Amino acid sequence: MSIINWFVKKKEKPHGIVTNYKGNVVAWTLHGEDADCYMYEYGKSDDRPDCCQFCNNSLIQIPNKGVLITRGKWDIAATYDGYYVISEKFCNFLKDNNYSNLRIIPLERSKGLYFFDPMDLFALDYELYGTKFINKRECCGSYDEVIRPPIIKAKDYKIESNDFIMKAEYLFGSYNHKGPVIIVGTETAKKMKAYGLKGLYFEKIYDSKGLKIIKKEVEGFILD
Ligand SMILES: [Zn+2]
Repeated sequence: MSIINWFVKKKEKPHGIVTNYKGNVVAWTLHGEDADCYMYEYGKSDDRPDCCQFCNNSLIQIPNKGVLITRGKWDIAATYDGYYVISEKFCNFLKDNNYSNLRIIPLERSKGLYFFDPMDLFALDYELYGTKFINKRECCGSYDEVIRPPIIKAKDYKIESNDFIMKAEYLFGSYNHKGPVIIVGTETAKKMKAYGLKGLYFEKIYDSKGLKIIKKEVEGFILD
């Protein structure tokens, strides 16, 4: 390869932008393990009570009580279609700490497992983070896809306590596989770990105030 060709080749190398955030952590998102199953039969999109009957997008979370889930080494896990499931121990943690406004429904065929859905909403900054809302449906107002849940708190939203369990306003993901993003207080995350709950993964939620967004060009495609 001639030196000129080499230069051209080098210039044409794919590149992408990586964004890093630096700031004050005000809460955490809580993710679980994979439950390695679906709440509703894979591929089933008609007569699902949790989806719009016209466009089949996820609308609200209604668990399938007859689902059979085998518990792994976790106290919280998510199904492939976006449902959170918790163990008896996780339930006891919630009761012991008097958290309110949580929806917990026993899954009759999956002994000791419960569907879990916090009802209080935590406001995030969708615009600043660049969440993508793709193809709004006329039938129900849902989007086909809501991609990239923000990691930044909405500017005007005030956190009243550092011990809470809430969720973001939207269901995230694609079509009939969307699920909530659970957000917990900084104190709550510590309590969950101290209680010995397993399979918890936390990610930072930043305050928009004083947040530094650092963009860096790197080699390789960034899939967004
Ligand atoms: Zn619809």
